[in-house]
Amino acid sequence: MSNIVAIVGRPNVGKSTLYNRLTETRKAIVDDFSGVTRDRHYGVAEWTDRTFTVIDTGGYVAHSEDVFEAAIREQVVIAIEEATVILFMVDVTTGVTDLDDEIAALLRRSKKPVFVVVNKVDNNMLQSDAAIFYSLGLGEIYNISSMTGSGTGELLDDMLKHFEDEPVEENALPKYAIVGRPNVGKSSIINALIGKERNIVTPIAGTTRDSIHIHYNQYGHDFMLIDTAGLRKKTKVKENIEFYSVMRTIKALEEADVVILMIDAVEGIESQDINIFHLAEKNKKGLMIVVNKWDLIEKNNKTVKVFEDQIRQKIAPFTDVPIVFTSVTEKQRVLKVIDVANKVYENRARKIPTSKLNDVMLPIIENYPPPSLKGKYVKIKFITQIHGVSPMFAFFCNLPQYVKEPYYRFIENKLRENFDFSGAPIQVWFRQK
Ligand code: GDP
Ligand code: GDP
Repeated sequence: MSNIVAIVGRPNVGKSTLYNRLTETRKAIVDDFSGVTRDRHYGVAEWTDRTFTVIDTGGYVAHSEDVFEAAIREQVVIAIEEATVILFMVDVTTGVTDLDDEIAALLRRSKKPVFVVVNKVDNNMLQSDAAIFYSLGLGEIYNISSMTGSGTGELLDDMLKHFEDEPVEENALPKYAIVGRPNVGKSSIINALIGKERNIVTPIAGTTRDSIHIHYNQYGHDFMLIDTAGLRKKTKVKENIEFYSVMRTIKALEEADVVILMIDAVEGIESQDINIFHLAEKNKKGLMIVVNKWDLIEKNNKTVKVFEDQIRQKIAPFTDVPIVFTSVTEKQRVLKVIDVANKVYENRARKIPTSKLNDVMLPIIENYPPPSLKGKYVKIKFITQIHGVSPMFAFFCNLPQYVKEPYYRFIENKLRENFDFSGAPIQVWFRQK
């Protein structure tokens, strides 16, 4: 479900410090992977078993005086439209500034929950100084120190109360989101698929609110396409085009079952694409990659392989992802995209019967058990798939803490070799029996 938390506020109040704090546990995992840029301004955070996407708005504004304040104001407006919750950050050491007042005026008109976060309240003496921010007229204030983390627990607890719950949809249709950088061909493929019969489905309360869902029901296929391309909004400030498109992409991605990441064959896969890829992966979405404008590439019999290898290297370690080469303008393999998306959807929902899982995996484990550690041997006795939206497996054993990362990878690879999970992120746990 799309629960997006946007941190807004003027520069230097501590937005990115809080952002880093909220996303750091996850980030530590992801940044080990190659190809992940550190200049990401959005990421997945976790608090008491809830995951949500945090976006640090400040990162999108160029630090040039003339566009600066206008850009920030516009970001606040976009955040109001797109986010679930807004954290309006101010700085106790400066008190209320003119820009704070302007932002507050925009936020007072918003219907979205706004939390006034007074940052840099590093000690009790500063608590009383913070009271001045009640004058912003946005209700309760939350005193925190992003640096030490104090006060953030209470803020997050209250924030979570405003999150939307996963709707239980009976017989819900599969949802596919086509995402990618501007100009890769997203609108073109949607138009190619649905032609003139662009049947825009009315939003279902609380669920599909404001992305455009297109019901596709032709040639035996029945699914929803979530369109990020059609909703191109004019931004007055050039710097915010990316910010806006990122917000939309995150939302579409969170709603989707399968994310169709489209890239331009000429441009190749870029860091922005990889960020989206990892965000989808962390959200346990099905994933596939479409390399469009394949007509523009001069090819020989090795070209596909070279492209695939390059892409897989950049999306490592989750490389078991289908890649389809299309030319929308030449009508090449457009329907294949849908066939593959359906396949990924099935793979993500795949349930392996327990007996089969044990019959296949136990002999593999016997031949290649976890390496012993400090003279201790891990004995895996039983494996089961856990009920969930994406494949999760529990390996019951005597000493789960002795199983190290390389063995997790080994197990995941073996699961992928033996069962078709292409495009589906897999979670593996070792549990005490
Ligand atoms: P942003 O521009 O809003 O993203 O602000 P940054 O996160 O870059 O922080 C601006 C400055 O404030 C940096 O020097 C931070 O180290 C500092 N800062 C951030 N949070 C705190 C805090 O809780 N207490 C103190 N004393 N300094 C902080
Ligand atoms: P979007 O911004 O991702 O929605 O991209 P568009 O669908 O608007 O396409 C951007 C441009 O790329 C348009 O001029 C399209 O005609 C062109 N385009 C789309 N697909 C292809 C393709 O397969 N081959 C070529 N050569 N051009 C394409």
